[in-house]
Amino acid sequence: MFRRILIANRGEIAQRIIRACKELEIETVAVYSAADADALYLSQADETICIGPGPSAQSYLNIPAIISAGEVADVEAIHPGYGFLAENAHFAEVCRECKIHFIGPDPETISALGQKDNAKKMAREADVPVVPGSEGSVDDEAQALTIAGEFGYPVIVKAAAGGGGRGMRVARNEASLINGFHAARAEAQNAFGDSTVYIEKFVENPRHVEVQILGDMHGNAVHLGERDCSIQRRHQKLIEESPSPSISEETRIAMGEAAVRLVKHSGYHNAGTVEFLMDKDDSFYFIEVNARIQVEHTVTELVTGIDLIQEQIRLASGEELGYSQEDIKFQGHAIECRINAEDPSRDFQPSPGLVEAFVPPGGPGVRVDSHCYSGYRIPPTYDSMIGKLLVHRSSREQAIRTMNRALGEFVIVGPKTTIPIHRAVLDHSDFQSGGHDTGFMERYFGSVSALAGLR
Ligand code: ADP
Repeated sequence: MFRRILIANRGEIAQRIIRACKELEIETVAVYSAADADALYLSQADETICIGPGPSAQSYLNIPAIISAGEVADVEAIHPGYGFLAENAHFAEVCRECKIHFIGPDPETISALGQKDNAKKMAREADVPVVPGSEGSVDDEAQALTIAGEFGYPVIVKAAAGGGGRGMRVARNEASLINGFHAARAEAQNAFGDSTVYIEKFVENPRHVEVQILGDMHGNAVHLGERDCSIQRRHQKLIEESPSPSISEETRIAMGEAAVRLVKHSGYHNAGTVEFLMDKDDSFYFIEVNARIQVEHTVTELVTGIDLIQEQIRLASGEELGYSQEDIKFQGHAIECRINAEDPSRDFQPSPGLVEAFVPPGGPGVRVDSHCYSGYRIPPTYDSMIGKLLVHRSSREQAIRTMNRALGEFVIVGPKTTIPIHRAVLDHSDFQSGGHDTGFMERYFGSVSALAGLR
């Protein structure tokens, strides 16, 4: 097992990794940018190193600065968290060259699965159903029109290097496809430095259901059940839960098995997520693999009792999984609400600045993962997520009630937050019945007037 780990991230996930390390009695080295100098979690790390100024290109994405910090601090491994360098195959490669363990899959696997069109190819090979679409990249307008003609509209143009919902455009006819093709390419180039796009059939109002997997370096892999992430705004997740409220036992088993097949086929090790879209007939289609820990891993931790960050560290050190699929037991129902410093009544504009008061909820079944505190100043430089509120209860109905209670208790004075929108979603009969899909937010909260009155 490792003696000392560097955490190449910030915010709640850096804090989450420090917590896991402390319980494993592993020393932590936290790196930070000048914009994060007053982050409280830094005081929980054994050592802290400033890696550059605020802009992430010069700090959290600055590979030489992070590797030098790791060498100076004499760490054996680096945990990348999510975002930033977490799915950067080049970074994983540099770690390997510098003889520092990267806590995640091999660079070869990251790069093979990171190109989403290639990941779909691997899924097909592993007999995992995929959304119908182009077999690889689509390079010009004419090709885009031919493929869309073949599969029929609507289609979605997606960035091969995509993430965070960027570089995606839905097209319902030829004119919007031509526009969408160029817009998606430009956005992809801007966001990922790679303009490659591919096309797939747009599944109308699907559910987003994903499977958490764990694999070791010895060929063993299991899944830890599914998470339903259908409450999304502009393809970004807002609420996640496990188990999915609308999946049959048969589909659940088939989806878990499909995820494990893909993991084994791709030689994947460490923690990862296999994402699927599910249509109204319960058919599911692979969309992508997230070769890292995800924000919503916490939901799975609650229903399985498995500490996923500790498992990541253990598996990266070469240990065997040590349990099989039958050993994994699922208990109760977990829901997570992402608390973002955003103003729902102003089109979810970021709302950074001073947090005058921060009083998180507590009581039975409540977990809060947040790096925020009273007096903290949210920097405008990074993403707006300031915490995750989770509940774990014996049933979904009970979990919704506890979540409502906890959201009501949560005091955040200063920035505007997504708490009012969560309360409104939880109150909605479509969410309560579990019959909702990814179109939910647009349908009920897509207009300015629907958001204006939220408190
Ligand atoms: P990213 O990597 O940017 O998160 P994903 O491929 O995971 O992109 O897709 C994010 C979301 O976009 C999905 O959860 C779903 O809501 C929507 N989406 C993606 N592909 C399709 C599709 N073919 N049909 C319908 N919706 C889609």
